[in-house]
Amino acid sequence: MPFVIPVAAPASVPVHGPSGGQFPVHRVYCVGRNCAQHAVEMGFTGREPPFFFLKPADAVLPVREGATGEMHYPSLTRDLHHEVELVVAIGQGGHDIAAKDALAHVWGYAVGLDMTRRDLQGEMKKQGRPWCIGKAFEESAPIGELHRAAECRIDAETEIRLDVNGQTRQSSRIGKLIWSIPEIIEHLSAAWTLAPGDLIYTGTPEGVGAVVQGDVLSASVTGVGSLQVKIV
Ligand code: MN
Repeated sequence: MPFVIPVAAPASVPVHGPSGGQFPVHRVYCVGRNCAQHAVEMGFTGREPPFFFLKPADAVLPVREGATGEMHYPSLTRDLHHEVELVVAIGQGGHDIAAKDALAHVWGYAVGLDMTRRDLQGEMKKQGRPWCIGKAFEESAPIGELHRAAECRIDAETEIRLDVNGQTRQSSRIGKLIWSIPEIIEHLSAAWTLAPGDLIYTGTPEGVGAVVQGDVLSASVTGVGSLQVKIV
């Protein structure tokens, strides 16, 4: 049977390198509060287990390396925050994936921004309501080119960093994530069946803060790539 309205093209992320291609996005999972110092700055002790939320697949805003993407300042907020994060792309799905097997399910990595309407998120938290309006809006998930896992060198010392207008706002190491990438995959896949095309934003280090129209955000993870976005 034909579809009764036009089918939207899947959201996708460009793959780095001469072979190129597009990585189709299935779901976008995000890990909340996965860095002790960020948890503390958000008013928590830093010892709670992480939790998950989702953004719609079409919230991704793919940006080629060397280019400057444009993110429109979203409606309703006066406190748009940046959160720089390492993004894991799932190539092989599964349920109840053990941490020791998890990296075999990873297709690649990218640098991402979990952009947040912090005032709306805070209001929803206060009222005990879902965060969607604070986290899951259009263009809320800028992402750089996807790099194949075999081409990335990620270890505890890998630097993750975000500059705004040339000034460093966030600078940390992947080893400071409370839950490692294999542990995140183990926990996530206990709750959801992971599928090829899933992206996981793995959580931000401390130093989150507001941006305004005209600001240029430069995000990088050493050995993984970079991402530049202007707020318009
Ligand atoms: Mn985040």
